[in-house]
Amino acid sequence: MIQKLLIANRGEIAVRIIRACREMGIKTVAVYSRADADALHTLLADEAICIGPESSRDSYLNMEQILSAAVVMKADAIHPGFGFLSENSRFARMCSQCHIKFVGPDPDVISRMGNKAEARKTMMAAGIPVVPGSREPVREWQEGQREADRIGYPVMVKAALGGGGKGMRIVRDSKDFQSQFQMAQRETEAAFGDDNMYVEKYIENPRHVEFQILADEFGNVIHLGERDCSIQRRHQKLVEEAPCPAISEKQREIMGETAVRAAKAAGYENAGTIEFLLDKDGSFYFIEMNTRIQVEHGITEAVTGIDLIKEQLRIASGLPLAFRQEDVSIRGHAIECRINAENPARNFMPSPGTVTNLHFPGGNGVRIDSAVYNGYTVPPYYDSMILKLIVWASSREDAVRKMRSALGELVIEGIHTNLDFQYDILCSRDYEEGKVDTGFIESHFGQRTEKDARKSPV
Ligand code: ADP
Repeated sequence: MIQKLLIANRGEIAVRIIRACREMGIKTVAVYSRADADALHTLLADEAICIGPESSRDSYLNMEQILSAAVVMKADAIHPGFGFLSENSRFARMCSQCHIKFVGPDPDVISRMGNKAEARKTMMAAGIPVVPGSREPVREWQEGQREADRIGYPVMVKAALGGGGKGMRIVRDSKDFQSQFQMAQRETEAAFGDDNMYVEKYIENPRHVEFQILADEFGNVIHLGERDCSIQRRHQKLVEEAPCPAISEKQREIMGETAVRAAKAAGYENAGTIEFLLDKDGSFYFIEMNTRIQVEHGITEAVTGIDLIKEQLRIASGLPLAFRQEDVSIRGHAIECRINAENPARNFMPSPGTVTNLHFPGGNGVRIDSAVYNGYTVPPYYDSMILKLIVWASSREDAVRKMRSALGELVIEGIHTNLDFQYDILCSRDYEEGKVDTGFIESHFGQRTEKDARKSPV
C-alpha cells in the first residue's frame, strides 16, 4: 500500500485527497506556491513544502520542482488531482523514472487519450460510436473545409489537444469556414502550443452524459453509472447530476457497456471518464476520455456509496477492484453546483479577495467540498472554483428542493460568486422538469450572459 502521498495540486481537490488519505492511514505531503502558504491544503496535510512563486507555471506546473519535493519528502506516490499536471504524460513518465507511483493510468494511455484525434481513432477501431468527423488531424483550413463539406454543416472545429472548451468553434456555413478555422487554430496554438485540429459534426443541443470508469491493473473494468453535465457555460460545466434523468435502465446498460469497452480499448487503468453526447433521438457519440478524477466525482460517490479517491489509491497500490459490475447499484439522486469566485454581473469576471463572512449549509444529504474558510483570501492566480455543493436525496424532486434550500443558506461575503446564478438555474421550471441540454444556459439566461456570449469563442 502507498505509505506517503504527495498531492500535486491545490484547492478543494487537494483537501479532498488529504482527507481520504487520513482515513486510510496514508501520510500526506502538500505542495504549495508562495500565494498558498495559508491555503487549506497547506494547513491540513501532514507536511507541506513550498515549490515556487505564485504563477502556476513556476509552481503547480513545475514538474522538476514537484518531483524534487517528492524525493526530498520521501513520498512513494503522487496524486495529480485534476487540471495542472493530471493529464501530462511527460510528468507521469518522469514519476515512474523516479520510482514514484503516479496515481493514474500509464503515460502512453494519457497521451493517446489526451489527443482527441488519436482517441477518436482508437474508439473507431474498437467500434465505439464517435461524432461523424475527420479521421486524421487537420492543419490546413482547405483540408478542414473539404472535410466539413463532406460531413455537412453545422460542424465543430476542435483542437486535437483541447481542454476547458478552448480552441472550439461552430461553423454553420462553408463560406465562414476559413475564418472560423483559423481563429480556432490561433487560439489552440496559444493555449496548447500545437496547431492540430479536427472537424466533427455539430450536434444541436445534445445532453452531455459521461460514465465513470474504474479499472485495475488486472484488466477488471467496471462503470459506476453516468452523470448528466449538460448545464454548461462556454462549454464548461456548472451543474451536474446523477443519474441522468433522460435515460432508461436499458439505455444506461447499453451506454455503460460501451463505456467499459471504450476504456478497455484504451488499455485503461485507475479512475477515468468516458464522455458522450446524447442526441435527442437517443443516439450517443463518444467525444473524449478524461484520464483523471473529475471535478464532479462526488455525485457518483453519493449515488453509489463508493469513495472514488480511495479506490484510486487502492488501484495505484496494486490492489484489485473490490467489487464487480453487478455489485454496483445506483441509489437516489445527487446534484452538484460549482461555486466560483466570479462576478456574473461583469461577464463572470474572476473575483478574488478576502472572504469576510462564511456560512455553510448542512443537514442530511448535504456535502461541501471547499478550500475556503473565514478570513481566507482567494488568490487571483488560479481557477476560480472555490467550492462544490453536493446534495443527495432519494428522488430527483427532493434533490432539487434540497439544493435550492442549501444554496439559499450558503453565505459567502467579501467576494462575488455565482451563487445567485446557480439558484436561478435550480429554480427554473425546465430544470425542475429535467428538460436540460447543453444549450440551456444560452436559451434561459442568454440575456444575462449576452455581453459575455458576444465575446465567447463560439
Ligand atoms: P473540452 O475537452 O475542451 O472540455 P469537449 O470535447 O469535452 O471539450 O466538449 C466540451 C463541450 O462542448 C461538450 O460537453 C459539449 O457541450 C460541447 N461539444 C463538444 N463537441 C460537440 C459537438 N460535436 N457537437 C455539439 N456540442 C459539442
